Amino acid sequence: MAFNIPETGQERIVIIGAGFAGLKLARSLVRSDFQIVLIDRNNYHQFQPLFYQVAMAGLEPSSISFPLRKIFQKAQNVLIRYAEIERIDLEGNRVYADLGYLNFDKLVICTGATTNFYGNEAIEELTLPMKSISEALGLRNAILTDYERALSIRDFDERQELIDIVVVGGGATGVEVAGALAEMKKYILPKDYRELPYGEVDIYLVHAGSQLLPGMSENASVNSLKYLRDLGVKVILNKRVQSFDGDYVTTNDGEKIRCGKVIWAAGIVCPVLQGFPTEILGRGRRIRVNRHLEVIDRQDIFALGDAALVEGDPAYPDGHPQVAQTAIQMAKLLSRNLKKSARSQWKPFAYKDLGAMATIGRNRAVVDLPRVKFKGFFAWVVWLTVHLFSLLGVRNKVIVFLNWMWNYLTYDQSLRLIIRPGKTRKEKQ
Ligand SMILES: Cc1cc2nc3c(=O)[nH]c(=O)nc-3n(C[C@H](O)[C@H](O)[C@H](O)COP(=O)(O)OP(=O)(O)OC[C@H]3O[C@@H](n4cnc5c(N)ncnc54)[C@H](O)[C@@H]3O)c2cc1C
Repeated sequence: MAFNIPETGQERIVIIGAGFAGLKLARSLVRSDFQIVLIDRNNYHQFQPLFYQVAMAGLEPSSISFPLRKIFQKAQNVLIRYAEIERIDLEGNRVYADLGYLNFDKLVICTGATTNFYGNEAIEELTLPMKSISEALGLRNAILTDYERALSIRDFDERQELIDIVVVGGGATGVEVAGALAEMKKYILPKDYRELPYGEVDIYLVHAGSQLLPGMSENASVNSLKYLRDLGVKVILNKRVQSFDGDYVTTNDGEKIRCGKVIWAAGIVCPVLQGFPTEILGRGRRIRVNRHLEVIDRQDIFALGDAALVEGDPAYPDGHPQVAQTAIQMAKLLSRNLKKSARSQWKPFAYKDLGAMATIGRNRAVVDLPRVKFKGFFAWVVWLTVHLFSLLGVRNKVIVFLNWMWNYLTYDQSLRLIIRPGKTRKEKQ
């Protein structure tokens, strides 16, 4: 069965994924001569850099998500489909989803990346990733539920399992989560869970490398380590987590850490759609593209964002950083190129590094800009401002701003609800 999409005579561009890349591309092609079909497994765009604040009960999911239909209410040439693409037929110019199939003239793959468990099934099953809003909410529920349960446990060892948390991966996500957990321990637990011996709560950050925040400057790495240690996080460097059985984390040198919750932020890998030729995949299963972002040896098939591995850029021989700016810049370039009638006018992709930043909690952040690097309160304000302005929608910006102000002034957040989906009537039967 075919998707129900009108045949308008316009050239049809199918975009899979409405993350930073897919959304930017679709928005840039509003009012162009193309028919755009934007497909995502969610009916909203999610702002991943603030997932950890949802997980730590600092923000509600709705304040960092934006409904796709609202964004394109007035865009006549953009059609949204809420569907999961399962298979691609590159020879037949067709994508297949649960809804049926859809033909395309041009295809743009913007499916992002997913958590990399490095093939370890036990770790995949037992740890908590944070690559979607629902996973962030799952994490929030798990943390709060365990604190609630720990109140009734007398045995020290059993309690440790519920209250201690291991974060794996010292990239920006791991560092930000560990910092936020340490602040929760410092400011929230003594008020909300007075009976809990919160001095017993241990937060570990295990990182395989010798420096936190790989990809950022040495200064940023050293300062983030200091900030985390000041907050009481037990940072373990140069060790890999080898296994987790639900009760203990074991590192590669045999060290065992007692804990029941592991947050897995140790790397990403790209999902591969069925039917996609594996010889076109590069490191991290990213899709190899040329500097026009067109898939190697294919015409009119493109890949953008985390999913794309650009070949032929001497400045980035291993590919561009998998961050929001890369996705946005790629989408801008492709939309400009597609609007030009002659391919000879197409421009190659050249990444403009705007810098990187991470926050480790209240008044603590590290910022690396191309010409200057700084830390502390000013860096934290810059971090807040950049993230606030990057959010979609005025309503979201206002809500997040008010939340942050409230949290800052009161040292509190008011969102610590454990909300689990109820069973539908069908499920109860
Ligand atoms: C926790 C976290 C924190 C981060 N923090 C930062 C940060 O501070 N700064 C920064 O620059 N970057 C950050 N990043 C990275 C940044 O979010 C990504 O680089 C960026 O989202 C990549 O954009 P994208 O469009 O390629 O993919 P995504 O934004 O991941 O979008 C992919 C989209 O494709 C959809 N999709 C995937 N497969 C299918 C399918 N088969 N069918 C239909 N839809 C599908 C998904 O639902 C999703 O909407 C962070 C990422 C995470 C997870």
